[in-house]
Amino acid sequence: MKKIALHWQILIGMLLGVIAGIIMASIDGGKEIIQDWIKPFGKIFINLLKLIAVPLILASLIKGVSDLKDISKLSKMGGRTIAIYIMTTVIAVSIGLVLVNIIKPGNSITESTRIEMVENYSGDTAKYKEDAQKQRDSGPLQALEDLVPENIFSAASDNKNMLQVIFFAIFFGIGLILIPEEKGKTVKDFFDGFNEVILKMIDIIMLAAPYGVFALLAALVVESPSVDLFKALAWYAITVVLGLLLMIVVYNTFVAVFVKKSPSFFMKGISPAQLLAFSTSSSAATLPVTMERVTEHLGVEEEVSSFVLPIGATINMDGTSLYQAVAAVFIAQAFGMDLSLGTQLGIIVTATLASIGSAAVPGAGMVMLVIVLAQAGIPEAGLALIFAVDRPLDMCRTVVNVTGDATVSMMVAKSVGKLGEPDVKDWDDNYHHKQKN
Ligand code: ASP
Repeated sequence: MKKIALHWQILIGMLLGVIAGIIMASIDGGKEIIQDWIKPFGKIFINLLKLIAVPLILASLIKGVSDLKDISKLSKMGGRTIAIYIMTTVIAVSIGLVLVNIIKPGNSITESTRIEMVENYSGDTAKYKEDAQKQRDSGPLQALEDLVPENIFSAASDNKNMLQVIFFAIFFGIGLILIPEEKGKTVKDFFDGFNEVILKMIDIIMLAAPYGVFALLAALVVESPSVDLFKALAWYAITVVLGLLLMIVVYNTFVAVFVKKSPSFFMKGISPAQLLAFSTSSSAATLPVTMERVTEHLGVEEEVSSFVLPIGATINMDGTSLYQAVAAVFIAQAFGMDLSLGTQLGIIVTATLASIGSAAVPGAGMVMLVIVLAQAGIPEAGLALIFAVDRPLDMCRTVVNVTGDATVSMMVAKSVGKLGEPDVKDWDDNYHHKQKN
């Protein structure tokens, strides 16, 4: 029998979870059965995601930074690439924050559901609120001070310190670039291999996703019988998708203004990569197709695309950062927290860094969301809330991640005079098949 694709399995898991939840909620003692026997599996699944976060940052960031070894040769291109990548990511986070503050998807949850939810998901909301208050009360440079750990092992032993781990990983990666290549080779090979292992572990965790989602949704339904939570989730998903669509508009505007190419030229050229991104939820898996489309159909010379796109697949995740910003504020709204302007500005920094640290694989953005939540003092238990709709949103944000990489590669190519005419002008999608056959 043909195996059902993972995203279908997850959608089925979601559906069955809701059905099981509805049935059990109507049976005497059903709620307790779900809470005692099903909910723990959801918790285990979330724990697995959190477990992988610190090693993931270490592996993917050290690899990503040390892959930049060509930066001396290509310093002009490297500098531009990073600068434009960061700029597009900051734009994405800002769009997400503006939308979530206007639409306020979390506020549609009524007071009683919110109280119930807060009790169910987090016994220590008060503590979180206290922490958030502490953060607000601290000095203006506190965040900067907190960035630098005094001990990497103690930093890495608490998910709340992930920014410190990111700082260490980038610093380590820079050190690795600066030493002679033959001396750093063993370490570099080690982290490349380490990265592979972590990615494989995420693959394995994702195999459990349909069951995890089932447990989470079933628990969600029995514990929160009110429909307004689902209404809120729908609004949350609409907010993310709206933001992602706006990002596509931003990319097309950039391509039109800076590269002087029409949106239809750009979208036709990149669409096969977008479809693949949608169905795999992985920018890394899509990379070979992105490369081919950008080089052959959008006219970016290989010298630029082979440098800009792999880095982009690792560090440029505009869709992910936008989603993280919306998700963080949504969870805060759902828990009845009022985020100050300072905290929201902090989210711009953490979501940008967290998206840089996210691996280009399914679900990575959600793992790294933990950092954004922890840093902003938002209950991590809120992850359980949004997991239900995460996979479809992952599919959509990966499309934006890939489109962003392609946009930046065109901008960089244009700025260094490496944008030519595409090899394939007739949009004949069978071109390559014909060539190969
Ligand atoms: N799946 C996304 C990607 O590969 C990352 C994420 O946001 O989870 O681009």
